[in-house]
Amino acid sequence: MPAQPAFVIVGASLAGAKAAETLRGEGFEGAVVLIGTEDQYPYERPPLSKGYLLGKDARESIFPLADGWYAEHEVDLRLGTTVTSIDRAGHRVSLAGGESVPYDRLLITTGASPRRLDIPGGDLDGVRYLRTVGDSERLGVALRGGGQVVIAGAGWIGLETAAAAREYGCEVTVVEPESGVLQRSLGPELGAVFADLHRSHGVTFRFGEGLSQLTGSGGAVTGAVTSSGAELPADTVIIAVGVLPNVGLAADAGLEVDNGVVVDEALRTSDPDIFAAGDVANAFNTLLGRRVRVEHWANALTGGPVAARSMMGQNASYDWVPYFFSDQYDLGMETAGLPDPGSYDEVVYRGDKDALEFISFWLADRVVVAGMNVNVWDVNEDIQALIRSGGTVDPDRLADPEVPLTDL
Ligand SMILES: Cc1cc2nc3c(=O)[nH]c(=O)nc-3n(C[C@H](O)[C@H](O)[C@H](O)COP(=O)(O)OP(=O)(O)OC[C@H]3O[C@@H](n4cnc5c(N)ncnc54)[C@H](O)[C@@H]3O)c2cc1C
Repeated sequence: MPAQPAFVIVGASLAGAKAAETLRGEGFEGAVVLIGTEDQYPYERPPLSKGYLLGKDARESIFPLADGWYAEHEVDLRLGTTVTSIDRAGHRVSLAGGESVPYDRLLITTGASPRRLDIPGGDLDGVRYLRTVGDSERLGVALRGGGQVVIAGAGWIGLETAAAAREYGCEVTVVEPESGVLQRSLGPELGAVFADLHRSHGVTFRFGEGLSQLTGSGGAVTGAVTSSGAELPADTVIIAVGVLPNVGLAADAGLEVDNGVVVDEALRTSDPDIFAAGDVANAFNTLLGRRVRVEHWANALTGGPVAARSMMGQNASYDWVPYFFSDQYDLGMETAGLPDPGSYDEVVYRGDKDALEFISFWLADRVVVAGMNVNVWDVNEDIQALIRSGGTVDPDRLADPEVPLTDL
């Protein structure tokens, strides 16, 4: 590499911005070009389905770095600019306008996009997806008007928007093909806790059904038909059926792609000069001993800096405990580890589950593989330490709030 190499980052969101911040923080003096399709300064998405959607969080609060930071740190931020291809042999990326930008090392942080539901009526007005700040603002306007809301998908985005819609006074029905909520991310036991929470706030669930058609009048949605033939009136339909990683650039460039851009523990792709982080990366996690693609805020926050250090030739490694959080109504939670079905054989509770003040632990052969603190705070690091330790625990002591988590 030249003495003053040029690093290009494709995807100006959380992972990309945090990578740029780390490069400068670690003393990288070469050129840093941060390129993003959106015309907004890099921002954080979690508030878009929570406080920002509800009009409680100010716009300024969603930006991880101040607007002036990029110029002050000589980061060439190119907003409203899409990278169309990567020329690996020539070490250049092409931009939609025809220009090309040279790189010595490249970071792909192109994130993920909502999976579209391709059904009749899917393009009617009032059918909404939620990924960008503009999506959130438009959805907020629609929900403020009240009315009937049908949500496809009982995952995190589906449930958080259900909570927001109820807070706006809308009637809410969630349609979900699986038998409960959050089945793939928490499993049935804790999924039931969230389903009860939403029912207690007036949300109706239709499990075992999908949306098969949307009906409309004058170009606007007026109803949703489920796979069982039920007709639900709807002023707004929110499609929240998961996201797909934006792997097109990487795949076209011949990089290894398998449920995301495949990267090693240093977040390096099959090309030693190209790295990937955030939602788009399927990264080898040394702690878990396997590759994981994580679609959560903390993964972008952690992965961007790890990739930046690797790009600089430092010995960086992706060994963190996956972490995510959610806020719905007056329930706040943090989860450490990945409690997906099949990864555990027992769930242990500490605290008052009925009062929604508890910690749940997912165990496999008495080893804690994941833990979630619900309306209980300042314990997630201890839960992460338990997961990291990999030792067996006594479930009775784990359930006993008198036993400090650090003594297990
Ligand atoms: C509404 C919402 C709520 C969420 N809430 C939570 C939460 O409560 N807790 C949690 O842990 N996580 C949450 N998440 C997930 C979290 O926001 C994501 O994991 C995080 O945004 C991933 O960041 P990223 O930088 O990897 O990718 P992204 O945020 O997807 O950003 C990628 C960027 O790359 C750009 N891009 C793509 N292709 C190109 C190209 N070819 N050229 C230039 N630019 C390109 C995109 O336009 C985008 O701006 C939420 C997500 C959403 C949408």
